Amino acid sequence: MAKPILLSVDDDADVLRAIERDLRSQYGADYRVLGSGSPESALDLLKQLKLRSDSVALLLADQRMPRIDGVHFLQEAMRIYPEAKRALLTAYADTTAAIGAINQASIHYFFMKPWDPPTEHLYPQLDDLLEDWQASYHPAYSGIRVLGTRWSPRSYELRDFLARNHVPYQWIDAEISASDPETKLLLETLGPEATNLPVVLFPDGTKLLETTPAQVAQKVGLRTRAQTSFYDLAIIGGGPAGLAAAVYGASEGLHTVMVEREAPGGQAGMSSRIENYLGFPAGLSGGDLARRAVVQAQRFGVEILAAEASEVRTEGPYRIIKLADGSEFSCHALMIATGVQWRRLDAPGIDRLQGAGVYYGGGATEAISCAGETVYVIGGANSAGQAAMNFAKHAEKVFILVRGSSLSSTMSQYLIDQIKETPKIQVWAHASVAEVHGETHLEEISVLCSDTGKIERVPGNAVFIFIGALPRTDWLAGVVERDDRGFLLTGPDLIVNGERPKGWTLERDPYLLETNVPGIFAVGDVRHGSVKRVASGVGEGSVAVQFIHQYLSKVQ
Ligand SMILES: Cc1cc2nc3c(=O)[nH]c(=O)nc-3n(C[C@H](O)[C@H](O)[C@H](O)COP(=O)(O)OP(=O)(O)OC[C@H]3O[C@@H](n4cnc5c(N)ncnc54)[C@H](O)[C@@H]3O)c2cc1C
Repeated sequence: MAKPILLSVDDDADVLRAIERDLRSQYGADYRVLGSGSPESALDLLKQLKLRSDSVALLLADQRMPRIDGVHFLQEAMRIYPEAKRALLTAYADTTAAIGAINQASIHYFFMKPWDPPTEHLYPQLDDLLEDWQASYHPAYSGIRVLGTRWSPRSYELRDFLARNHVPYQWIDAEISASDPETKLLLETLGPEATNLPVVLFPDGTKLLETTPAQVAQKVGLRTRAQTSFYDLAIIGGGPAGLAAAVYGASEGLHTVMVEREAPGGQAGMSSRIENYLGFPAGLSGGDLARRAVVQAQRFGVEILAAEASEVRTEGPYRIIKLADGSEFSCHALMIATGVQWRRLDAPGIDRLQGAGVYYGGGATEAISCAGETVYVIGGANSAGQAAMNFAKHAEKVFILVRGSSLSSTMSQYLIDQIKETPKIQVWAHASVAEVHGETHLEEISVLCSDTGKIERVPGNAVFIFIGALPRTDWLAGVVERDDRGFLLTGPDLIVNGERPKGWTLERDPYLLETNVPGIFAVGDVRHGSVKRVASGVGEGSVAVQFIHQYLSKVQ
């Protein structure tokens, strides 16, 4: 953590040098000593320090300065750092003014120039002031801060990105905490830039306005470009299947890179509690599973890129991957583990309010924000049930909207039992979303009740959609064979009437998890016929590595 600051301000360069020297020699071990030649530049400096969340313990200003005198400077500075101790440096002739300032301008002390010897005329008094300051000093939060508004889709996107990548940050809601002096000051310091929220503030004093997760990724040190141009194994997708492949591949000596466009963990990362993963009798959160897997992969030297793969092509034995930023790298074996993404809900208002009360998936960052609110979970599968249980910890009321007459045909019995025992959750059967309403954020939902044929319009703060998922594999079209829903065909699924896939030139059949392109494998939920479970994704990811070894032993 950065040391607190002692700032002295004097337009006389010799006096400034002398006071800085004396402060540094006595307090340099515990404080950072800064000096400024004018009150104007000192005020600018204080604003920058504020943006960086630095602490200021002492402001020491000369009384006689042109344009702004010491008292006025300290009064201005007090608005930025109200808790800092304030002291004046005065000449004998200004003593009366200084005494007046103590009473009228909340100044804590004044020192006479010259202060020699400092052991008598400076340090004892400063020791007192700094001791007082230390007693009530709470170090300011010194990490990344996101300043935005709850209903802004861009704020949501950034927070979700940081949370899912396990990057600690402080969220400041500019509306909710608008009356908080610190927030007010922050907004004031940002000036016209504050009209363009969200703003991401970094501990080094820099800020990103109108930014994207990719830019934040780069800034926080997540790698966005490949370090080298060639890998033995490249994996696209960092869900359970991709992570398992990464751990097994790298631990068995393959130079491995994994590309993940959102956050490692994939869908599993959204799960508040995975109850059926072997070896975790009390269940574990998807976030935890992902975090552990990432550490394990990194320990074996896997390079993890926060990037989106947008194109794949083959050049002889090389598989070339193009990322969305245009950069490319190549590999011998490529594994597609891109899973599935939520199906879109087609109802008026849904697209407009996405991120502003309407969310796809678990909305990990949103659960806590739903405290005391009414939440609607759309869908009847296990993912919806888990999410409802999670929201019930915070929300006032959770409705699960299902098209059918109950959850019994779509959800596991253990979840149905948990839901029954949670009074906050109510299952609304024969129900689907007809429309969502709200100007800047979700306010109401029109629910179509298929048993009565009526539409009920009800108030609601958030809608979380879990209505099944589809692979997004258009970017692989023309290279890798897909079924009519976009799932990738592998192994025996490629053999039709005893014929190998078109263009296949090898004298063997495609391996179990290999696509129609030799050396390109598909694992996990993205694969045609896969079992949509964490354990099966992990299983496929690790098994595929065995086929990759066989493939690599023959590749030229
Ligand atoms: C809320 C919820 C709860 C669940 N609970 C359970 C449970 O309790 N037990 C259980 O066994 N299963 C559960 N599942 C299912 C399980 O999570 C999935 O079966 C599993 O995550 C599939 O793993 P995967 O690696 O194949 O794909 P995903 O987990 O879908 O991961 C794919 C990854 O690829 C990335 N990606 C996609 N395209 C690209 C691209 N072009 N470039 C870069 N990256 C890309 C995505 O961002 C994603 O991170 C749950 C799912 C959800 C949504």
